[in-house]
Amino acid sequence: MERRLLYLNHLELEQIIPHRIATVVVPVGTVEAHGITPLGTDVIIPEAMALMVAERIDALVAPTVAYGITRGLLGHPGTLHIRPETFKAYMRDVLESLVRIGFKYIVVINGHGGQTDELKAVLFETSRNTGGRTMLIDWWYDTDEIRKRTLARESGHAGADETAAVMAINPDLIKRDLYREGMAMKYTKQFAAYPFPATIITYAEGDTSLNLDEDACKAYFEGVVDQVTTLITQTLTRWRTLSGSEPKMCTEA
Ligand SMILES: [Zn+2]
Repeated sequence: MERRLLYLNHLELEQIIPHRIATVVVPVGTVEAHGITPLGTDVIIPEAMALMVAERIDALVAPTVAYGITRGLLGHPGTLHIRPETFKAYMRDVLESLVRIGFKYIVVINGHGGQTDELKAVLFETSRNTGGRTMLIDWWYDTDEIRKRTLARESGHAGADETAAVMAINPDLIKRDLYREGMAMKYTKQFAAYPFPATIITYAEGDTSLNLDEDACKAYFEGVVDQVTTLITQTLTRWRTLSGSEPKMCTEA
């Protein structure tokens, strides 16, 4: 069935939520320079993941929020920034609207670590204000075991993990010929620089090179989607057993 909200007719939607489907997945990203992958890497990954997850958990997929809070790489070509207060206000309205039209469970899949704190604040507020259940997935965290097993690399911004996810979604999006020596730089807490002087940022010691083997990249991404799906399924199951789990519209705070 069609899972994308944008492609459903309003009368079709009325038949589905919340009686048959009460869960919506919301992909959120930002537009930011990423080594040899597209500016939309943080949008492309959660969007693809949302469609895969929605199929498995029987949910709909809300329109993607592509503009986000980019700080460190602002100044590199094509990188866009939304002020945190604007982003939070916009996200708050997006999520509250989704509860108002009938969704009880909201799963935000985020592609960008630079806006995690703001998203957590908005998800908490939405849950408190509407009674809806809200969950944030930062897809790349705690995937070390999968990454080491499939890619045998360390992680990073535009590093082996993100690049592998893009490769798994569409290999044509990887611009191998644009790779340059010095494109990657290790992050250290000892300094901050705006813009950060590299578009691949590594955080760990060890092999931080890109693994561009297509099968390895696919195995990585499938492993991550499996893990994320399990986490969401467990949470949904536990939410449904909570007493008072029906969202109630409170008056505006
Ligand atoms: Zn990214």
